[in-house]
Amino acid sequence: MVATLIDGKAIAKATRGRIKEEVTQMKAAGITPGLAVILVGENPASITYVRSKERACEQAGIYSRVIRHPATITEAELLQEIQQLNEDPSIHGILVQLPLPPHISEDLVIEAIRVEKDVDGFHPINTGNLVVGKPGFVPCTPAGIMVMLEEMKIPIAGKHAVIVGRSNIVGKPMASLLLNQNATVTICHSKTVELGEITRQADILVAAVGKPNFISKAEVKPGAVVIDVGINRLPEGLVGDVNFEEVKEVASYITPVPGGVGPMTITMLLENTIQACKQLQG
Ligand code: NDP
Repeated sequence: MVATLIDGKAIAKATRGRIKEEVTQMKAAGITPGLAVILVGENPASITYVRSKERACEQAGIYSRVIRHPATITEAELLQEIQQLNEDPSIHGILVQLPLPPHISEDLVIEAIRVEKDVDGFHPINTGNLVVGKPGFVPCTPAGIMVMLEEMKIPIAGKHAVIVGRSNIVGKPMASLLLNQNATVTICHSKTVELGEITRQADILVAAVGKPNFISKAEVKPGAVVIDVGINRLPEGLVGDVNFEEVKEVASYITPVPGGVGPMTITMLLENTIQACKQLQG
C-alpha cells in the first residue's frame, strides 16, 4: 500500500482563501480584525515564526502589530504591555512568541492575556474549556490537524488514536480534541514502556516528539492514518518525527514534512483571530 498524502499546504491555501473573503466582508462592515504579536529577544526560530505570522496576516487582510523587545525586558514591563493590549479595541488577538527568556515566567505571561484574546489557546481557562468540551480557543497545531482530518473525511469516532508526546501545546490538546470526537485515546511520552506495542495499535497515530524519523515502519499498523507534527532541522533540510519514506508504504494516509501540519498552524491562528474579533465585536 502507498498512503494517500494529506496535503496540508493545499488545505491551508483553501482555508486561507475563505478567511480572506470573511475578512473582506468584515472590513466592508467597518471591522478590521487585529492581531498583536510580541517577540522578546533574538531567537532565530522565533524571528522566522513571527515573520511568517505577520506575512500571513497581511495576505489575509488582518491588521498585525509586531512588538519587538530586547531579551532584557523585565517581566513587569511585559505584563504591563499585555494589559494595554487587553484594553486596546483595535487588537482582538494577542500572542506572545515562546520561548521567553528564563527571567520571565511563561505561565504568568500566558495568564495575563485576556481569555477572549488568547488566540494561541494556551490560557488555563481555554485549556479547561477544551478538556470539558466547552467552546473556547484551541491551540493552533492540534486545531489544524482536526481540520485536515475533517477535510480528508477520516472517521474518528470509535478509532484508537495514539499520540506520542504530551506537551501542553500539541500532545495534550490533541488528545482532548480526539476524545471529544469520540476516539479512544492513548497518550505516550518518554517514560512509556514498549512504545512500539502501543503505536502499532493506532488507527490514528500522531507523532509530536521532536526527534527526526523517530517513528519507523515497524511501529505503524498497516492502514493507519499517520500525522507527523515534528519539525526537525537537519543539514539536509526539514524532517518530521516519522520516517516518511518507510511509513508511507504501510499507512493509509500520511502528512509530509514540510507541507503537512506546519501550514495549518498559522492558518488556525488567522481563524482564531477572526473568531476573537467577531466575539469581541458582538
Ligand atoms: P516538546 O519537547 O514540548 O514535547 C515532546 C514530547 O515528546 C514530550 O511529551 C516527551 O515526553 C515526548 N518524548 C520525547 N522523547 C520520547 C521518546 N523517546 N519516546 C516517547 N516520547 C518521547 O515538543 P512539542 O510538543 O512542542 O513539539 C513536538 C514537535 O512538534 C517538535 O518537533 C516541534 O518542533 C514540532 N511542532 C510543530 C508545529 C507545527 O506547526 N508543525 C507546532 C509545534 C511543535 P516527556 O513529556 O516525558 O518529556
